Amino acid sequence: MSEWTPIRSDLLRDRNFIGGAWRIGREDTWLEVADPATGAVIGRVPDSGARDADEAAAAASGALPAWRATTARDRAQLLKRWHARILASAEDLAKLISLEQGKPLGEARGEVAYGASYVEWFAEEAVRAYGDIIPAAAAGRRMMVVKEPLGVVAAITPWNFPLAMLARKVAPALAAGCTVVAKPAEDTPLTALALARLAEEAGLPAGTVNVVTASRGNAAVTVGAWLADPRVRKITFTGSTAVGKALARGSADTLKKLSLELGGNAPFIVFEDADIGAAVEGLMRAKFRNGGQTCVSPNRVYVHDAVYEEFAQQLTARVAALRVGPAKLAESQIGPMINSRAVEKIERHVQDAIARGATALTGGHPVRDEIADGPNYYAPTVLGEANHEMALFSEETFGPVVALFRFRSEEEVVRYANDTPYGLAAYFYSRDVSRIWRVSGRLETGIVGINEGAFASEAAPFGGIKESGYGREGSRYGLDEYLATKYLCQGELA
Ligand code: NAP
Repeated sequence: MSEWTPIRSDLLRDRNFIGGAWRIGREDTWLEVADPATGAVIGRVPDSGARDADEAAAAASGALPAWRATTARDRAQLLKRWHARILASAEDLAKLISLEQGKPLGEARGEVAYGASYVEWFAEEAVRAYGDIIPAAAAGRRMMVVKEPLGVVAAITPWNFPLAMLARKVAPALAAGCTVVAKPAEDTPLTALALARLAEEAGLPAGTVNVVTASRGNAAVTVGAWLADPRVRKITFTGSTAVGKALARGSADTLKKLSLELGGNAPFIVFEDADIGAAVEGLMRAKFRNGGQTCVSPNRVYVHDAVYEEFAQQLTARVAALRVGPAKLAESQIGPMINSRAVEKIERHVQDAIARGATALTGGHPVRDEIADGPNYYAPTVLGEANHEMALFSEETFGPVVALFRFRSEEEVVRYANDTPYGLAAYFYSRDVSRIWRVSGRLETGIVGINEGAFASEAAPFGGIKESGYGREGSRYGLDEYLATKYLCQGELA
């Protein structure tokens, strides 16, 4: 490992966690995990297949009857213990996230706290899965509604928040009384295994949480085994829209319940009546977290013609001052991108935009120097005069690139903002109260940031509409995703 060792050695796992045991893959094939800053191999994990997935599903299914029979209070206590273990290992987990994912250490610490907050939240929500008593529709009857766990849940997670995305799926599933099989992304399996180790340490019963790692080439067969498996009752997925659709198609034969947290392509609108300084600040927070590799990252920034120059100038000065470097340097603000494919996509978008008339106000190229000494760094970039012919209008760039589009009226910009199949998040800055309510009502997204660039919270429902998916994570709505509603009707009552 790098100079960041020692990370607590038992958190560095190189095996699947199935039925409470650490096991190598059935095929005995391996996947190497690389540090995106340097490309150096930092660990290896099983490159699993269908047999491993099947064993994990069997373990989760075997653990289910006892787990769902526990009281909500007991499950809450175990989740609180897991939460405490996560916080006690926060520094090690943050280092591990930075090492395999590349985000600066300060941000990785933030991710641990954010992920842990979901575990705590759902420990608290576990005891509030209330049902209903319905006034009887006929004499001599009792009509009741109870909430029951769905059963075995398969969680499939992306690389951009390797701890938080897993925690916000596993915690509500366990709180509801479900058991879990999970497959983390190829690029970031180590954090998921460390989280499983802490669940083991916290005393979660064998089989309640199972983690199976696999390469990108084996993702479809590993997850495919769960899609076809009638024991698995629910798929919860965060990732691209293309894979989300494949999971929906693949689980159609067993009609599983699905939660899909998919791609974003978020608009960020700066109206002429906005506080420009606050809007620049909000965009910096929203855009450059995790080097722009977030699903809610503003992808299209619409600025009113009357304030365009002022906004562009202030923003460019801020972006040009961002420091690019490896996560291990305290001063780094933008780490490496996750892999070379990500850098190629960013470069393709930037070059396409420039060829179609955009101007690079700062950045616009990959970086390699004495500090950012690796293959996957990209300069924080502002592109002026973007238009709708450019690839970055319709595709998520997923990198540190801001594209500025001009607009002239509210009507026009709302139309532009909604002119996408995606509907995850939108942002706008305005000081006009009437406009705030009007525009927030017309934006076709699951989340709207109003004069706010950082809205994520365990207390709030996170999720999209349109091709950004369905289902919500966090808040009181998050638990419902893992519960079935059962209606009990008792008759023959005097
Ligand atoms: P991805 O390629 O869809 O991968 C996500 C997960 O699915 C990974 O574990 C991946 O494994 C797995 N996977 C890939 N192909 C699969 C297949 N055919 N069958 C089953 N599983 C498969 O997405 P990504 O590139 O990692 O993540 C970026 C995307 O996620 C962006 O679009 C972003 O907007 C979205 N995202 C959404 C949210 C949200 O809450 N809405 C949050 C974060 C990210 P491998 O890694 O091995 O390929």
